[in-house]
Amino acid sequence: MEQFLTYEIIGSADGPISMLISEGLWFAAIICILSLLLLAGHVLIALAVYNDARSKSNRDALMWALLVGFLGLIPGIIYLCVRNNVQNYVICPQCGCSHLIQDLTCPRCGASNPYFQQSVNPLAPQQAHQAKIQLIIGLILLLVGIVGIIVSVIAFLTALLQNPMVAIH
Ligand SMILES: [Zn+2]
Repeated sequence: MEQFLTYEIIGSADGPISMLISEGLWFAAIICILSLLLLAGHVLIALAVYNDARSKSNRDALMWALLVGFLGLIPGIIYLCVRNNVQNYVICPQCGCSHLIQDLTCPRCGASNPYFQQSVNPLAPQQAHQAKIQLIIGLILLLVGIVGIIVSVIAFLTALLQNPMVAIH
């Protein structure tokens, strides 16, 4: 009964108010779907950063992924700048000299580096490949999402302005 009354108030199916409502609902639904695309793109790019950082044995992989995932563009650009410069240092247990984890032996005293094995990452090529695919798909989703939102806003505004209910005022 209440359903019926609502229909009575809105008017006939092709009336201007009902057109406005159905356009609004379509618009809201499309924006929801596009927002999900943006979210998925964002998550994929964060995953790409994580895998890229891990492939470079970056100990802050998770931190970078979270930063890019939550804050987006700016940490992403910073990450791009530092991703190749990240060096992991270790302290020689024998003389206390700080040197690169990739060094097989300590450059000062020549003691063998106990952390050397950790610097060898057999999964690196796989992680780099994964990162590349996630980045490409993520960027495509972001692009589709952003273009889609712009197009649907323009389409919605155009439809709105052409609606007799709006045009009268
Ligand atoms: Zn040493």
